[in-house]
Amino acid sequence: MDSHYSVLMNALSTLTPPQLSDLIASISALFQRHNRRLVSLLSSPALFSLTLRYLESLSLHHKSLLIGKHLLSNLAHFSHFMHTKTSAPSYSSSNMKLRDLDAVLLLLLFCELRQNDPSALEVEPSKWRTVVCNYYVHNTMLTFSSMAVSDIEVLNKFIVLSTKFLKFIGVIDCDGNPKEGKEVAAAAAVVVALPSVQVHGGGKECVICKEEMKQGRDVCKLPCTHLFHWMCILPWLRKTNTCPCCRFRLPSDDVSGEIERLWEVLIKIGSGSNSFF
Ligand SMILES: [Zn+2]
Ligand SMILES: [Zn+2]
Repeated sequence: MDSHYSVLMNALSTLTPPQLSDLIASISALFQRHNRRLVSLLSSPALFSLTLRYLESLSLHHKSLLIGKHLLSNLAHFSHFMHTKTSAPSYSSSNMKLRDLDAVLLLLLFCELRQNDPSALEVEPSKWRTVVCNYYVHNTMLTFSSMAVSDIEVLNKFIVLSTKFLKFIGVIDCDGNPKEGKEVAAAAAVVVALPSVQVHGGGKECVICKEEMKQGRDVCKLPCTHLFHWMCILPWLRKTNTCPCCRFRLPSDDVSGEIERLWEVLIKIGSGSNSFF
C-alpha cells in the first residue's frame, strides 16, 4: 500500500469515535468552504481573470509555496484532532489570504483538469473559464456538494488529496519518511512561550555547555521535558528547531519544515509512540 496513505490511516485509526466524527465534520466544513470559493471564482468572470493574472505573476517556487501552505493547513487540521497538548497554534487556512486561497484552489483545479484531459486548455485563454467550469460541474462539485456524501467518502477524499500534495511538495520521500531537510529556526512565537522552571536537586547537566544546572536556578523546559540553561538553548533554537537531546521538533515558520514536523507527529501517533502529546 502507498506509504503516505498508510501513515495517515494509522494516525486516523487511533481516534475515538467522537473524535473521528468531529474530524469529519470539520473536514466537511473545510471542503464546503473551498467549494463555495471555487463556485464564486468560476461564476464571476472578473474574479476569475483577476485570480488567473495573479497566478501568472507567481514564480514556480511561489506556487509550490502556496500548495505547501494549503497542505499544511490540511495536515494541521488533521493533527489538531490527534493530540490535545499541541505546542503551538499551527497554520490554518483561515490565516491564508483569500487571494492566495483562490489562487491555490484554481491552480489545483487546473492541475486536476490537465491530468484528466491534457489538451483541455489548448484553447484561447478567454475560454478557460468555461472549460474549467464545465469540468468542475461534471466532476468535482458533484462529489462534494451533494448531501448524500458519506463520512467515509469525505475522509477518503481528504486523505487522497493530502497524499497528492505531499508527493507534489516532495519533502516526504516515497517510503513516507521526511527527507532530511535543511535546518530551520524555531518559530519566535513558540520560543517566547517556552516555560521557565526551577531546577530541583542539582547534578543534572545541560547537554549544550556540559555544565551543571544548579539547584534553584531558572532553566528552560522544552515540550519534550528536557531542560537547558536559557543562555544555551536560545542561540540553539535560533539555528534549529530540534531538541539537542532527543531531536523533538518545535514548530517553525518554515513551510516545508512544518510539513515535515507535522508528518513526523502523524507517524508517531500512528505507531502508538506519541508520548509527547
Ligand atoms: Zn548550558
Ligand atoms: Zn528533548
